[in-house]
Amino acid sequence: MTIAHPSPAARPDASSAIEAFLATTDAPTPFLVLDLNVVAERFAALRLAVPRAQVFYAVKANPARPILERLHRLGSSFDVASPAEIDDCLAVGVPPERISYGHTIKKRRDVAYAASVGVTRFAVDCPEEFDKVADAAPGAAVSVRLFHECGGADWPLSRKFGCSTAEAEQLLVSCTEEGMTCGVSFHVGSQQRDLATWHETLGVVADVFRRARDRGARPTLLNLGGGFPGSYRDDAPAIADYGRAINAALAAWFPPGDSGLDELMVEPGRYLVADAGVLRSEVVLVSHRSVDEMARWVYLDVGKFHGLAETMDEAIRYRLRTAHDGGPTGRAVVAGPTCDSVDVLYEKSGYELPLALDEGDMVDILSAGAYTTTYSSVGFNGFRPLAEHIIG
Ligand SMILES: *Cc1c(COP(=O)(O)O)cnc(C)c1O
Repeated sequence: MTIAHPSPAARPDASSAIEAFLATTDAPTPFLVLDLNVVAERFAALRLAVPRAQVFYAVKANPARPILERLHRLGSSFDVASPAEIDDCLAVGVPPERISYGHTIKKRRDVAYAASVGVTRFAVDCPEEFDKVADAAPGAAVSVRLFHECGGADWPLSRKFGCSTAEAEQLLVSCTEEGMTCGVSFHVGSQQRDLATWHETLGVVADVFRRARDRGARPTLLNLGGGFPGSYRDDAPAIADYGRAINAALAAWFPPGDSGLDELMVEPGRYLVADAGVLRSEVVLVSHRSVDEMARWVYLDVGKFHGLAETMDEAIRYRLRTAHDGGPTGRAVVAGPTCDSVDVLYEKSGYELPLALDEGDMVDILSAGAYTTTYSSVGFNGFRPLAEHIIG
């Protein structure tokens, strides 16, 4: 595939390798096919966009071994949330110094396990969690996760994580008193499409740094989190635009030279893997439901319990592709195959599907490489977990 001038409007359905796989496969649906070469392209593009930052891939977005292996070979570091994710990274040869235990809710024994295998980076967002890390991983580098309300994200991260600016300031002081390297992390919300949020959030962080320093703390690291986009139905800016917005915000609030910052991190999950994957599903049934004013319902063999959890509240609106595209379309409710009534993907988002779509047709869910295989249940209603084919 050659695209002379990538732009936000240029949203290819899938790589040529994925198209070739889909054209010839008879693998049973539903399945995800994911192209490692697209992951590698995205990694390079992100590095170019935010050159001051070290990339820590958020493993939860898609922990498939070949993805970890490829990113490791490309020089990525890794953000993990559990001992199992640490083991996955170690198994492909990632040195523990390149693993960050970025989850703020950890068992004390899991902190100790991480420390025992050489992991030195941890996130905390309250004094209680700080005590665990100081106790079970003395000498660790600590990111204090700041809560900051920002709009603009399709999959916002709630009040479950992060502390107030006053508490962040106090935690930075505590870290310094314990002789620990420290800094601040935040996450502007996943699939963040408002580029102004980084400037606004970094202004708040710079203020926390300043006030903590006035009290003797020495914060030296800054973790910009994730939020970079996949190509879904509603447009997001190009990655270069994210880079420009973040670099300008950094230059304004943390100018090189006088910022005291030794280390910048980003933690992309979605951006690196979403567009690398296509989820192929099959239409189980098309019906016109009399209890619903004869609305057309399209039931796929994949749903909320088999990888499409991010359709909750219709938050992530995937692009759908069928062999009948180009023909006349009409409104459809799109639903999954299980006998749970919440297993409806799109009812209010105005999805249009070809009128010719029928039982047995394939529906390709585009840019589905992130947060799908990991969200698939083990066998609800006897449907197998989402299968994954890795190519490239
Ligand atoms: C999930 C997660 C990420 C990745 O977020 P994306 O929006 O997918 O890039 C990064 N950091 C932390 C702490 C996370 O929990």
